Amino acid sequence: MDNKELALTEAVESLQEDMLDFACRLVAQPSVVEHEQGALDVMENEMSAMGLSPVRAAMDAPEVAAHPGFAPTPWSQEGRYSLAATRPADASGGKSAIFNGHLDVVSQEPLDRWERDPYQPVVVDGWLHGRGAGDMKGGVAAMTCAIKAVAKAGLGLAAPVTLEGVIEEECTGNGALACLVAGFDADAALIPEPFGSTILTSQVGVMWFKVSITGVAKHTLDASGGVNAIETCCYLMKALRDLEKRINADKPVDFADVANPAHLNIGVIQGGDWPSTVPAMAEFHCRLGFFPEMSFEQAAQAVRDCLAQAAEADPWLSSNPPRVEFYGFRSEGHRVSRELPALSLVSDCHRELSGREAPSYACTCTTDLRSFIVYGGAQATCFGPVAENIHSPNERVNIESMVYTAKVYALFLARWCGLVQ
Ligand SMILES: [Zn+2]
Repeated sequence: MDNKELALTEAVESLQEDMLDFACRLVAQPSVVEHEQGALDVMENEMSAMGLSPVRAAMDAPEVAAHPGFAPTPWSQEGRYSLAATRPADASGGKSAIFNGHLDVVSQEPLDRWERDPYQPVVVDGWLHGRGAGDMKGGVAAMTCAIKAVAKAGLGLAAPVTLEGVIEEECTGNGALACLVAGFDADAALIPEPFGSTILTSQVGVMWFKVSITGVAKHTLDASGGVNAIETCCYLMKALRDLEKRINADKPVDFADVANPAHLNIGVIQGGDWPSTVPAMAEFHCRLGFFPEMSFEQAAQAVRDCLAQAAEADPWLSSNPPRVEFYGFRSEGHRVSRELPALSLVSDCHRELSGREAPSYACTCTTDLRSFIVYGGAQATCFGPVAENIHSPNERVNIESMVYTAKVYALFLARWCGLVQ
């Protein structure tokens, strides 16, 4: 590192309190889907306070709905938006960058398993606790800190860098897509998802779907002639588990060390309304992963075929087939080379700051990298803090790892965009 780069990493350290304060203000906002306004306001104010001009990238724009990567939702997209703000270049000659992070979080349930209020951020023994602290408001604060450090060190950049705070990463990917459609793309994009000091080189595709069953209601004094919709769901779940096995039997080499990388999660079930009535209606919602070799359409067809085959073998379902609806995630997977200049630069920055090699990471969930890699032009990867219990009670993020992530991001800016005095 030269003197300017050293000054930049020292600026990150001097901004540690500010970074933590920003992370806490974000964690205090319970930004589950359709309730992201508080977190968006905190992000927008932060961007403005940095002297940037935040743009609200509308998710209900016709060009977003018409985009092949748009995921349909049962909830309305009207008035919804993600945020992007570009720090203009101070000189020319460098390569542009985007730092992207999501502001939405998953539900805090089961709430009674938390040791503390999930939306009252607290620091205990070097960890920030709260829903979203790890996934991924800690990362959002870290990447923001890296950009702030440029001014704090009295330096400038030879290319623009854009800060993005998006929503719906946890359900559709439409937020990051809206920023892309609004014109925000760059030579490189980094996302500080809480996967630690790793370089994400591949991720699975992910889709959501809902299966609805009708049965026949009967009083339980004589249940003959009744068809139990809930038990019929169990039969179809078994068929889908078999499909999951078939998909995983073919796992590509980068996922070879992971058990069941294309995972089926049966995440929601609803049905019936009375213990003494045969339930006439039930539905269950699934998340299924699929490998980059498969398109969303192919994976969706595999689900349709699987359900149709199971239905044919069942006396009731053969004439009353289940209904399947694909909503939310329909994200394609991807695979990129570690040799891409942006990815190898992140590696170099990490090696120089820590003396260690960052392992490659084949991710078994989706991230907003999808927008950049499948639909945009950026070389993109995830590199971020260390977190525990994401999507679970007692989520927390390691503060030292947030500072470290900010340093790597700052050094990346210095070398990718180029520093100017
Ligand atoms: Zn995340």
